[in-house]
Amino acid sequence: MNGEEIKICCIGAGYVGGPTMAKIAEKCPEIVVTIVDISAARIEQWNSDVLPIYEPGLDDVVKKCRGRNLFFTEEVDKGIREATIIFVAVNTPTKKIGIGAGRAADLTYWELAARRIAAVADTPKIVVEKSTVPIKTAEAISSVLHAAGRTSFSVLSNPEFLAEGTAMDDLEHPDRVLIGGPLTEAGATAIERLSQVYAHWVPQERIIKTNVWSSELSKLVANSFLAQRVSSINAVSAICEASGADVDEVARAVGMDTRIGHKFLKASVGFGGSCFQKDILNLVYLCQSMGLSEVAEYFHWVVKMNDLQKERFVSRIIHGLFNTVTGKRIALLGFAFKKDTGDTRESAAIEVCQRLMQERAEIAIYDPKVEHEQIWYDLSEVTGLEQSQIEKYVKIEGSVQAAAKDAHALVVTTEWDEFKTVDYRKVYQQMSKPAFLFDGRNILDREELHSIGFVTYSIGKPLDT
Ligand code: NAD
Repeated sequence: MNGEEIKICCIGAGYVGGPTMAKIAEKCPEIVVTIVDISAARIEQWNSDVLPIYEPGLDDVVKKCRGRNLFFTEEVDKGIREATIIFVAVNTPTKKIGIGAGRAADLTYWELAARRIAAVADTPKIVVEKSTVPIKTAEAISSVLHAAGRTSFSVLSNPEFLAEGTAMDDLEHPDRVLIGGPLTEAGATAIERLSQVYAHWVPQERIIKTNVWSSELSKLVANSFLAQRVSSINAVSAICEASGADVDEVARAVGMDTRIGHKFLKASVGFGGSCFQKDILNLVYLCQSMGLSEVAEYFHWVVKMNDLQKERFVSRIIHGLFNTVTGKRIALLGFAFKKDTGDTRESAAIEVCQRLMQERAEIAIYDPKVEHEQIWYDLSEVTGLEQSQIEKYVKIEGSVQAAAKDAHALVVTTEWDEFKTVDYRKVYQQMSKPAFLFDGRNILDREELHSIGFVTYSIGKPLDT
């Protein structure tokens, strides 16, 4: 296939497929990039003025390339047939049940995509794992393809390291692009072919080539390490609260050690998002299946610590409000799992909200980007209640001011920049007194809030007396 024109198809038009392919289309104007998805609604949104995902900078790139060399279509089979390189960026959620603590990745969507490729591809293809998958998935995919007689197809691993909210920047300046492939001549050729695509804008020294297992494992390990740092600093935040130390001061002092560094040392209510927990539980499962139960336990603590942190935060709210939130209005500021995204998957806000509902609080939610239907959907999923039942406890408001009206407490669950510039003096005036503020992201100026009259709680800081 070397020297042939490259045509790309990406199966899966989600948070990964959409931005990564838009970036390739932008950087490689001579390559036709087609993104296919089984969800007609999603494809329709990608072809409309309102894209299905919010990601800073994405709109401009899609508008520039769409119809030129970037196409969104439901025609999965046609997309597969016409491509030379097929990325698979379908969802790989966590299985709901597992043995012990680990949870395997559910590869149903991946297998369906692989079987589709096996059924309709009539010329040799390079199949690229873009989704996060367990080690040995490439082998499983190869066996599906080989069973259908597609023996000259190559399967590569090319995990995605973008972070939602900064995806376009991450794709423009990746720390590294990782490509893993089989240790054969055909494998080396396929790796070279894929690296030609990235070489349009990524410096050669940042394109790392490894064996396929190292590549598959590296993605799980990278997410586990990132989450581990969050859990470590959150564990430290509990020590700070018990001892009078200040977690931001400790993080600053510790992070100045160049071996440690400052990034990902921000204490918070806990990590969320579709990846960290899923990938760690997957790693735990893999360790268990390889008989490495102590190693599994080690990684599992990262998730357990995260759960503990969310529970600690909720306990602080209840304790602060004189040990009962029943009938008290609480303004929840932020529902997305982090700022600059409308994504709520595994958001800490969902769990905080659920726990406060269990305590019969009245909750007023405000998030600048999350769709209201998404909030109702998430709360139904987690509580098992109908929207009409949830509406007895929960309201969705259109601003911080509206959410705060008559509230006993403000609870910051997402670090949206707009929360930093709110006029908290005005907010305070319309709240029930004493007015509490629980900052689950440590983004607000505590001294200023004190001067206004708020009783505050920040993660890992000395408690208000
Ligand atoms: P997503 O749910 O947003 O998108 C997946 C898309 O695949 C959906 O639109 C779905 O309809 C489509 N799909 C599923 N099966 C299909 C099939 N057989 N044929 C065609 N389309 C199909 O998921 P996402 O967040 O983009 O994540 C995709 C993968 O990338 C996951 O493995 C995830 O772990 C990984 N990842 C995600 C991120 C992130 O920040 N979201 C970052 C790095 C890696």
